[in-house]
Amino acid sequence: MLKRTDVAGFLQGLFVLPLCALFGGLVALLFKAHGFGLWACVGFCALFPIFGAVKTKQKSLLAGLLVGVIVSIILLVALAPAHAEEPPLPLRGFSVCLDPGHVSETSAGTVSRDGRLTEAHVNWVIAQRLTRLLKAEGATVVPTKLHESQVVANRRRAEIANAMHADLFLRLHCDSGEQSGIATYYPDRQGRRFGVTGPSPEVMRSSRRAAQSFQPAVAASLRGVIRDAGIKGDSQTGVGGKQGALTGSIFSQVPALTVEMCVLTNAHDYRFMKAAAGQDAMAHALLAGVEAVAVQEREER
Ligand SMILES: [Zn+2]
Repeated sequence: MLKRTDVAGFLQGLFVLPLCALFGGLVALLFKAHGFGLWACVGFCALFPIFGAVKTKQKSLLAGLLVGVIVSIILLVALAPAHAEEPPLPLRGFSVCLDPGHVSETSAGTVSRDGRLTEAHVNWVIAQRLTRLLKAEGATVVPTKLHESQVVANRRRAEIANAMHADLFLRLHCDSGEQSGIATYYPDRQGRRFGVTGPSPEVMRSSRRAAQSFQPAVAASLRGVIRDAGIKGDSQTGVGGKQGALTGSIFSQVPALTVEMCVLTNAHDYRFMKAAAGQDAMAHALLAGVEAVAVQEREER
């Protein structure tokens, strides 16, 4: 026959542990403790009823406590997967060699009409923003230069991309001239520089496929704010017209894209790229482009 005191002891044991653990959780939240700190607070507070029950040697209290512990463990195990199932990072396992264009052996880059914004600076600023976004999505990012004014030869930039076996060699530039908008260039012909012919037909194919995924995603992200100037071949650039391809493309052994993010001498594009909001929109658009290339490359594997 159960005595009233036994039932009371059992219930006390059953509820006192979760209550103490809850108190520990609240203390942890008050001190903004996470991970180990949170569990240490919960565990420490939960120890009190256990010690109390052992000390009194009251069987009903101990039984209640034991059931409380078992139920708590079952609940924790049942609820844990809901927290563990975070969405996988979209760019985990994808590597980008990010190349802020200029200063190179051939050019310091273009400058806005008022002379206040250099291409090298814009390329550098966007590269920094894009690096943060890419890394947040799990991508491996290796830059071709470590500070804004660093001079890096175009051949060297490709060698950095090759050494890391980048899934994408992404080169950031700004154009000059009368036109406007964002355009993506890929090596559409082999070129020749320093006695070397390149890139390989396979790199030309993979670069073209990358451009076909990259540019539509970028343009869609920037629709209404900057013109879609389309996909173009390296051979349509000044240097590419002479050499067959850009020097960075000639030496690249991985898919190589050169993005002319805007026309810095165009008044609309200049205003867009000068503003922090424009730079942020550009970095997010380029991220969307890289995501599209990653999806396409994964499908082809
Ligand atoms: Zn440039």
